[in-house]
Amino acid sequence: MVVTVDPEKFALAAVIGWPIMHSRSPLMHNFWMKQLGISGRYLPIAIKPGKVVDALRALPGLGFSGCNVTIPHKMVAKDSVDDVDDAADKMGAISCVVVREDSSLFGTNNDWIGFLRNLEYSLPKFVLKDRYVTVMGAGGAARAVCYGLIKSQVKKITVVNQTLNKSKLLQRLYGDIICVRSWENRNAALEGSSLIVNATSLGMVGMRDHDIPIEAIDQNAVVYDIVYTPSETNLIRRASVNGNPTCTGLGMLLHQGPVAWKHWFGIEPLVTNELYDLVRRNLEAEYGPGKTIV
Ligand code: NAP
Repeated sequence: MVVTVDPEKFALAAVIGWPIMHSRSPLMHNFWMKQLGISGRYLPIAIKPGKVVDALRALPGLGFSGCNVTIPHKMVAKDSVDDVDDAADKMGAISCVVVREDSSLFGTNNDWIGFLRNLEYSLPKFVLKDRYVTVMGAGGAARAVCYGLIKSQVKKITVVNQTLNKSKLLQRLYGDIICVRSWENRNAALEGSSLIVNATSLGMVGMRDHDIPIEAIDQNAVVYDIVYTPSETNLIRRASVNGNPTCTGLGMLLHQGPVAWKHWFGIEPLVTNELYDLVRRNLEAEYGPGKTIV
């Protein structure tokens, strides 16, 4: 790989959030800095709510090429930058800020790209066009997932969420390609789907697990769980045992990295098995292989 980062410049990027020290982004980005022999650092910066504008406006003067934005700042940050792209505009949230040559700030949302790239990388033969998809959840991540699915020309997306009004909000945002089913009918919504995405927080460490009847779904249906704490959720494990192809949230997280690098440093590092294992082991050291409350 040809590295084009300015050798005179100490490459700087960050992730801002509150809290932030749980973030695995520094591990991933600093792995690439070292691997590519780049002089620089990716820092976790804890920014309290109310301080987002100050933090973002300080980036150019401090020599940062940009930053990632995580909970709870994604929406405020979108309104604090100078320009955003179509994806960020539609989602009302950004996950990445880029400092431009003239010190202005550009905001974009890479969650949907990470979601798609991970699917392409994990299951290269799976084609999304004209597929029926079920998305469980209607929060910020589901919004990004649906954006990516629509970009990929799926036929229909059935959204099931505990709070029905949030599903209806997604339908208003994206139109009739979204079909809304109630949470109570979630199992029926899985029938005929080629791809089932968990974009709820269910299955996360400390949360109860998903109750999807894996045995009853089509064995060819891809099960994609975007939760990455633990790195392998109970849902993914059950789907694998059932013989379904699977995709993990950890992969989605890692595949957002190269997109940000392209914006900040003009290069796209690779998501390798070595990087995947490094972050997986690090997550397992803290959360175990899957300490969910079933
Ligand atoms: P969010 O905006 O807070 O949305 C949370 C979603 O989970 C909502 O749909 C919510 O339903 C649902 N939910 C929460 N508790 C539930 C319960 N007990 N039963 C059923 N549904 C429940 O959060 P988010 O940003 O969308 O994130 C959701 C998950 O995705 C998190 O685990 C996050 O870490 C993960 N994520 C992963 C990536 C990645 O790169 N892999 C990126 C972004 C997010 P209601 O609307 O009814 O509350």
